[in-house]
Amino acid sequence: MHALDIPALRDNAPRRCPFSATATQADSLRDVPRGWLEQVAMAAAPDGILLVDRQGTIMMANPAMETISGYAAAQLMGQPISILLAPHLGAKHGQHVRRYFQNPTRRPMGMERDLWLHRRDGAKVPVDVALGYSEAYGGASVAFVRDISEVRRLEAQTCYQASHDNLTGLVNRWQFGQRLEQAIHTCTPQGRPFALLLLDLDDFKAINDGYGHAAGDQVLVEVARRLKNALRAGDTVGRLGGDEFTVLLPELNQVQEAMLVAAKLLQLLQEPFRVQGFELHCGASAGIAVFPQDAPDADTLMRYADMAMYCSKRRGRGHFSLYEPAMGEKMAEKILLHDHLKLALAYGGLALHYQPQVDVVTGQVVGAEALLRWTDPVLGEVPPSRFIPVAEATGLILPLGEWVLNAVCRQIRVWQQAGTPLRVAVNVSVQQLQQNDWVEQLQGALQRHGVPPDLLELELTESEAMADPVLARHSLARVKALGISVTLDDFGTGHSSLAYLQQLPIARIKIARDFVEPMLRGDSESALVRAVIELSHTLGLTVVAEGVEAPEQLGQLRRFGCDIVQGWLYSRAVPAPEMAQLIGTPEPFAALCRAAALAQP
Ligand code: C2E
Ligand code: CA
Ligand code: CA
Repeated sequence: MHALDIPALRDNAPRRCPFSATATQADSLRDVPRGWLEQVAMAAAPDGILLVDRQGTIMMANPAMETISGYAAAQLMGQPISILLAPHLGAKHGQHVRRYFQNPTRRPMGMERDLWLHRRDGAKVPVDVALGYSEAYGGASVAFVRDISEVRRLEAQTCYQASHDNLTGLVNRWQFGQRLEQAIHTCTPQGRPFALLLLDLDDFKAINDGYGHAAGDQVLVEVARRLKNALRAGDTVGRLGGDEFTVLLPELNQVQEAMLVAAKLLQLLQEPFRVQGFELHCGASAGIAVFPQDAPDADTLMRYADMAMYCSKRRGRGHFSLYEPAMGEKMAEKILLHDHLKLALAYGGLALHYQPQVDVVTGQVVGAEALLRWTDPVLGEVPPSRFIPVAEATGLILPLGEWVLNAVCRQIRVWQQAGTPLRVAVNVSVQQLQQNDWVEQLQGALQRHGVPPDLLELELTESEAMADPVLARHSLARVKALGISVTLDDFGTGHSSLAYLQQLPIARIKIARDFVEPMLRGDSESALVRAVIELSHTLGLTVVAEGVEAPEQLGQLRRFGCDIVQGWLYSRAVPAPEMAQLIGTPEPFAALCRAAALAQP
C-alpha cells in the first residue's frame, strides 16, 4: 500500500500539480482530504489537462500534460498558452482566447483537425482538444489535450495501404485512377497532353507456374523497380493487379515522347530477371492512349490503352501500339459477336457439320471432323474464322467447347446405333485443356451418351500445343489414358521440333492446308510434305492431309504414303444426315483415287 504525500495547497487552488510523484503517505483515498480527490483524478487522467484563465495564462497542468509537452508543470504555470503553439499562431490565438471568454462553450474532442502542439524540444505533436469552462474565480477554461500521434500514424498507414500495392509499393488501381482523374482535371485545353501507358508482362504465367509464386513475386518487384527508376519524378507508375502495370506521362510536348518512353520501358523489361539463381526472361507489351486527343474521360482512356495493348499482344509480344480509332471498331465487332454468340449458346443457332476423312488406299470414310456452324438471326452465317477467335478472347470458348463436345458425342451415338460407327474429331482450344475439370468433362460426355472413347478424337493445333508444351504434354497424356486419341492439327505451322513431337502423346498429325495447297506448284513444296509424312511414320504417327482439293494433290499424297485425306475433292463439311449417306459409299472416291493415281507419272 502506498502512502499519500499531499503537498500544501494554497487556497484550495493548487499552482503545482501535487501528484506527479508516486510517493504517497495516506493509506486510502478515504484518508485524503475531500478537496484533494480532484487532484488524484488530475494525476490519473490519461489526457493532458490545462487550466487557463481569462488572460490565456496557464494556471495548472497535470502530469499527462508534462509528458505531451515536454515541459515540467512548474515551467508551464504562469506562461501564456501560446507557449504550446507555433510562434506565428501566438498573436492570433490571443484573439481566439478573448473571443472564447466572451461566449464560452463546451467543445468535445474531434471537432477540429490539424491541431499541433509545439513541444519544448521543438517537435510537433498532433493533438485533439476538448474545452470546458468554469465560472469559478472569475472564469477559467479547461483544455483536455489528447496526443493523437498514434491515431494519425495508423490513419496514414491505412491510407497508404488503401492506395498502394502491398508487394511492389507502387500506387494501386484505385489511387492510379485518382491520379488519372486529377491529370484530366488539370489538363486545360491549351495545356500539354498526357499519355496513359498500359504494360502487361508477356511470359509471367510461365514464370509463376514454372518457378513458383515467390519467384513470380520477385519478378514483379523488380519490374516495379525498373519502371520507377526509368521514369521522371512527375510520372506515376501503378500496378493494376497481376502482371499489369500502368504509367501516367504528364506534360508531353509530342506524342512521340510517349512512344520513346514505351520503347525504353519494354527494352528494360527484356533484360533477364535474376531470381533464385535462375535467369528468367519475361518481356512485356504495351498500349498507349493520349489525352485529350484519344478520349475525353478516364474510363475510355483506359479502355483504349487496353485495346492498343491487345493489338500489341496480337502483333507478337514485346511491342507497343498507339491507340487508333480502327481498334475501337474491331473491339465493337468483338463485343457484338460475343453478345450474339452468347445468345446462340442459350437459345440455339449453332450446328455441327461433318467433313469426311477418307482412307487414301481404300477410299473408305474412316472418320469425320466436326466443324462448328453458326447462323445468327441478325448477322446471318458467321464463319468460325470470325467467331472462334472472339470466343477464345472472351472465354466463351469454354461453354462453346462443352456444347460441341456434347453435340458430337450425341451424334457419335446415333451413328453407332445405326450400325455405322464413325470416329469423329473435335477441335479443342488450349483454354479447354487448362480447365481443372477438363478430363472429367470428357469422361462425363462419353458416359452421358454411352460413347466408347476410341470413337472420339481431339484436334489441337500445333501452335497451341507449342504455346504451353508442358501443359499440352500433361493434359494430352490424361486424355490418352481415357482412350481418346489426339491429333496435332495444322502441322507445319507451329515449328515444333522432332524431339518435342516424340514427347507428345499423339496418334496422328494433320498436315496444314498451307502445305497441301502449294503441292501443285512444284517439287520443292511437295518434297516438304513427303518429308513430313516419312518423318511422322518413323515416329509411328498416322498422317492426315487436309484441304485436298485437286486429284493431283491426292495422287501425290498417295505416292508419298499419306494415310488419310480430307478436303473438298471428296466433300465439304456437311450436315449430319448427308454425312450418314457418305459413310457407306466409298465407290466414287475409290474411282477418284484410281484416276488420280493414273494421272500421275
Ligand atoms: P481447322 O480445324 O483447320 O478446320 C479446317 C478448315 O478448313 C475448316 O474451315 C474446313 O471447312 C476447311 N476446309 C476443309 N477442307 C477444305 C478444302 O479442301 N479447301 C479449303 N479451302 N478449305 C477446307 P472452317 O469450318 O471454316 O473452320 C475454320 C477453323 O475454325 C477450323 O480450322 C478450326 O480451327 C476452327 N473451328 C471450327 N470448328 C471448331 C470447334 O468446334 N471448336 C474449335 N475450338 N474450333 C473450331
Ligand atoms: Ca481441325
Ligand atoms: Ca486444320
